[in-house]
Amino acid sequence: SDPFSCEVKPRILLMGLRRSGKSSIQKVVFHKMSPNETLFLESTNKICREDVSNSSFVSFQIWDFPGQIDFFDPTFDYEMIFRGTGALIFVIDSQDDYVEALSRLHLTVTRAYKVNPDINFEVFIHKVDGLSDDRKIEKQRDIHKRANDDLADAGLERIHLSFYLTSIYDHSIFEAFSKVVQKLIPQLPTLENLLNIFISNSGIEKAFLFDVVSKIYIATDSSPVDMQTYELCCDMIDVVIDISCIYGLTGDEVGTPYDKESMAIIHLNNTTVMYLKEVTKFLALVCFLREESFERKGLIDYNFHCFKKAIEEVFDVRLKVQRSRKLLSQR
Ligand code: GDP
Repeated sequence: SDPFSCEVKPRILLMGLRRSGKSSIQKVVFHKMSPNETLFLESTNKICREDVSNSSFVSFQIWDFPGQIDFFDPTFDYEMIFRGTGALIFVIDSQDDYVEALSRLHLTVTRAYKVNPDINFEVFIHKVDGLSDDRKIEKQRDIHKRANDDLADAGLERIHLSFYLTSIYDHSIFEAFSKVVQKLIPQLPTLENLLNIFISNSGIEKAFLFDVVSKIYIATDSSPVDMQTYELCCDMIDVVIDISCIYGLTGDEVGTPYDKESMAIIHLNNTTVMYLKEVTKFLALVCFLREESFERKGLIDYNFHCFKKAIEEVFDVRLKVQRSRKLLSQR
């Protein structure tokens, strides 16, 4: 059985003013569109756009604020949607005047909090690719201060907002999404523990658990993450999926470019080896290790086998608990 059924999928809502970059983020992160192509995305007038892709570990919806439509229209059941949401990402265009965006942010956050105080509020200060590092920090400080001042004025200091500097032109958008998704995974400490045990018993230096479709990493061991390593992982996943898509399937075969047999080994020029293996339908493990350690590949594969079993159990147990809770509540 697939341990990641719909009921455990983290649900994310992506909101922000028109043209703030929501569709571009969705296309780049979940549909492999190249950032330059987003220049030609057509504007839509829909308030709500559901992403129906079932291929990813994450499910999410996009909401727009087209000026003329009242978002808090009584026919729009926002309460139900906020109740089912794990994280609300609010996108602010940092290259534009953000006064209007900040007031929408405040309105949205306060409404959503009333319905569901457990939502994580995540603010993406977006399109920072044109800004120098100093300007980025300055913008973040200003937006952070104004948004929190608005909350304090309303007596709502207890609402916590997290801020990220993002752009679709580099890996910052994937990095930010990874952090947002990780907060929604209750098993995260267990996953980190399993990764720690796995790498220390296998002579591996660093390991990431990736959602293959979005290239979001949902967990890593507790050693620090450096951007270059993360970017190499993303490139490796791209190579594996692209080659499989182009050459892996013939006409009438049905299947995905990623399956139980999927694995890849790349020797880098600095005596490091990258090793990728399938964990579940959505997830892959990507490891970095020294060539000497890779000589004991049998041991690594055996440890991987144990790791994979443990991962399946972690998610399976949780599903069983949810199911029995449901049964109890129906009594
Ligand atoms: P939406 O209305 O919120 O869905 O916004 P769109 O996704 O349609 O984006 C509006 C415009 O912003 C498009 O022309 C995108 O190419 C551009 N855009 C989106 N993200 C970025 C980014 O990170 N940097 C830059 N420079 N432009 C971006």
